[in-house]
Amino acid sequence: MSESATRSMAKMFQMMSQMVEAEKDHLSELDGAIGDGDHGITMSIGFLAINAELAKLDLDRASLSDVMSTAATGFLNAVGASTGPLYATGFRRAAKALAGRTTLDLAACTDMIEAISAGIRERGKGQRGDKTMVDVWLPAADAAANALAEDKPADAFWRDVVESADNGASATRSMIATKGRAARVRERSLGHIDPGAASASLLIRVMAEALQADRER
Ligand SMILES: [Mg+2]
Repeated sequence: MSESATRSMAKMFQMMSQMVEAEKDHLSELDGAIGDGDHGITMSIGFLAINAELAKLDLDRASLSDVMSTAATGFLNAVGASTGPLYATGFRRAAKALAGRTTLDLAACTDMIEAISAGIRERGKGQRGDKTMVDVWLPAADAAANALAEDKPADAFWRDVVESADNGASATRSMIATKGRAARVRERSLGHIDPGAASASLLIRVMAEALQADRER
């Protein structure tokens, strides 16, 4: 089981990279409206680097925590700018949260999502309403915790998480940016979805696909 869980997590990062490649132009377009238009490229570089590092890992011996910390290092080494330290911190926190765990049950997945969310929020010193990826990760983490507390089955758990992430991304459309490059255009950011929020919701959708499939196998 532990080998399968480790491989599922590595597969999740592969699927995330494939998604980012497919959405690269779209994400850069979103960023072009309120930022410098490089978000798709940044995410592409980051996730390709994660998978290059994961390819060097012996997945028969690696733990879930190893996969996450490798992802953190790979992302940070490839992406120095804003998004880099945010996801690197999120993944590093998730590595800690998964330490000693060998299965990706819903409790582990909740810990992982909460750790990513907390890492991003604390590293970026951001909160909900800032029009950033925090507006996606935080509600997703809350949804996971609530679904776990209500003992929901895996399909309902992931449906709640994905729905909260999607709603969070959509909500950034009516927010005014106060952080990062988008803050320079302030009111002009109104009406545009934050690119970091958009990519976050896509990552969470892929996470759900990859890890729910794992449970059903
Ligand atoms: Mg940018």
